Amino acid sequence: MKIIVLAKQVPDTNEVKIDPVKGTLIREGVRSILNPDDANALEAALELKDKNPGTTVSVMSMGPPQAKYMLRECLAMGADDAYLLSSRAFGGADTCATSTTLAAGVRQLGDFDIIFAGRQAIDGDTAQVGPQTARRLGVPSVSYVQKVRKVEEKTLTVERALEDGFEVIEVQKPCLLTAIKELNKPRYMSVGRIEEAYKKEITVWDEGSLHVTPDEVGLKASPTQVFRSFTPPPKGAGEMLAGTIPEMAGTLVAKLTEEHVL
Ligand code: FAD
Repeated sequence: MKIIVLAKQVPDTNEVKIDPVKGTLIREGVRSILNPDDANALEAALELKDKNPGTTVSVMSMGPPQAKYMLRECLAMGADDAYLLSSRAFGGADTCATSTTLAAGVRQLGDFDIIFAGRQAIDGDTAQVGPQTARRLGVPSVSYVQKVRKVEEKTLTVERALEDGFEVIEVQKPCLLTAIKELNKPRYMSVGRIEEAYKKEITVWDEGSLHVTPDEVGLKASPTQVFRSFTPPPKGAGEMLAGTIPEMAGTLVAKLTEEHVL
């Protein structure tokens, strides 16, 4: 089986702060990490590789040159090879242009059986790129995958998480699945694999290698306009009511009546 994992390098949101004037993320000096859902996507691919001899796992990312560090992490977890789609032409991409570029990268790699993506990136948070990439490649996709139940020659059976349970879906291969954290527990990198990961070449492709024109990717191909971004003002402190339950209920009704809620 040939599996491709879409992995994004994201700022560690535990360390990100918002510029109060510009309303944008302050990225300077912030550590970058492998997007958490993508670690689950990679683990799912590696588990299938462990169970199915002859399976290969390729990791692909679109991003700046420093995304190579994250890709080496993926190699050290057990991926066979890594591809970085990187060029100034790809800069300023919205999700639409990102998925166009990733789909072009996948086509360049050739036939595949499964693409795993994360459900959502912790910085952009749209959860659009996986399904959009599937649409561009003309393959079916299943989002919110919490379990891969069965892999057969032509189909996969997966569980898709719902708010109050899950549904079982049989999907034709080739297909794209988006992973959630409930899918598995990502493995650690091993010392031996870290050494190997630094010996491996990471293939870098630009718009020429992907046979796309600069008008089809990046800012020029991004219809999304960010109207305004801002940090919501913090909510005021809550008020604790005191007294017996009937007294507190009375006070609450009085307050809600005063605010015209009741
Ligand atoms: P989601 O859709 O939430 O991600 C879901 C999954 O898709 C991920 O878990 C991962 O598996 C896969 N995926 C997503 N992105 C990638 C990727 N790059 N490589 C591999 N797999 C991926 N961002 C920048 O970094 N630089 C910019 O210059 C930039 N300019 C922008 C300009 C505009 C007008 C807009 C609207 C956005 C811009 N962004 C930029 C943000 C960028 O569009 C998103 O980060 C990107 O499209 C991914 O969307 P997301 O983070 O919501 O991913």
